[in-house]
Amino acid sequence: GGTIGIIGGGQLGRMLALAAAPLGYRVHVFDPHERPCAADVAADFTSAAFDDVAALERFAASCDVVTYEFENLPVGPLATIADKLRPGTASLAIAQDRCAEKAFVEEAGGRPAKWRAIDGPEDIAAAVEALGLPLVLKTRRDGYDGKGQAWLRTEADIAGAWDTLGQRPLVAEQAIRFDAEFSVVVARGADGALAFFDSTRNVHVDGILHRCELPAGDLIEKQVGEARRQAGAIAERLGHVGVLTVEFFACADGPLVNEIAPRVHNSGHWTIEGAATSQFAQHIRAITGLPLGSTALRSQEVTMDNLIGDEIHRWPELAADRQAALHLYGKGAARRGRKMGHVTRLG
Ligand code: ATP
Ligand code: MG
Ligand code: MG
Repeated sequence: GGTIGIIGGGQLGRMLALAAAPLGYRVHVFDPHERPCAADVAADFTSAAFDDVAALERFAASCDVVTYEFENLPVGPLATIADKLRPGTASLAIAQDRCAEKAFVEEAGGRPAKWRAIDGPEDIAAAVEALGLPLVLKTRRDGYDGKGQAWLRTEADIAGAWDTLGQRPLVAEQAIRFDAEFSVVVARGADGALAFFDSTRNVHVDGILHRCELPAGDLIEKQVGEARRQAGAIAERLGHVGVLTVEFFACADGPLVNEIAPRVHNSGHWTIEGAATSQFAQHIRAITGLPLGSTALRSQEVTMDNLIGDEIHRWPELAADRQAALHLYGKGAARRGRKMGHVTRLG
């Protein structure tokens, strides 16, 4: 038993809280919003800003261990509760800055797309010169679900891009012609043990994950071994404790790293029904110092479909489908592009 603190009150925090209960833990959620969806399933909830150091310290004092479900958090304030924090601030600092992330991946022996840091509008033309077109510009910080990205396809797209993306530090990435996308969801225990989940084929539409599928197909299966080596090296180099996700592009010449998430991940939601231990239970085990659970498959065939925006209105039909495991996040307004729930099918 004991109390686990979760910073961030979104659906990942909610599913972590639900997974903590069977292991006997209470959960205390910390989030700036009034009533985030994770607070509904937690014993305690603090509504305060992420940089409110006094509130963070009180929160940490009420918990045995603190984790986060969201990486766009201010590192300085979190450093004040570093003794309770798993994973630590190193994982956070690297994953929240796309340039630091890519440099770190390279040091760890991974291969990102060719990239350039963009600190001003004049750097964009230089990046086009160096990387060629098409390329994608991404805000260095704070992006998720494809937000804060702009594609440059022709020279004419260069001029407006700096303003369109809010005059913020960016990274330019070469466009990758990948054959498929997959991710490695790995847990690293407090003792350094690694446990890998199977890698699904991940299908994105407009930068948002729509579907995960197992079997993932020959190409991904051939590249998973190398991708696991890279993800394991990244987790070790970060001293990461908990679940870590590395997104990959499967290319003709091997896997390229897209990005790192220092947390449970949408592409691991299928593990709730599809694996012996879910990614959420695994994360709770890792951060509390329990042995990692089995990642064995419960079915060779798994699909996970996100319910995005209006798709949530399909819920009555999905609730009646006896092959479907329906998850609704209780998030309120079904805004466009918002992840409202998901549905998993086995076999
Ligand atoms: P997430 O919600 O996964 O954190 P994000 O906003 O950080 O999303 P990315 O993962 O960088 O966005 O990009 C979203 C998707 O856009 C990728 O999964 C991929 O389909 C496409 N994409 C991103 N970068 C590139 C690239 N360099 N070349 C080709 N496609 C790309
Ligand atoms: Mg991302
Ligand atoms: Mg991504």
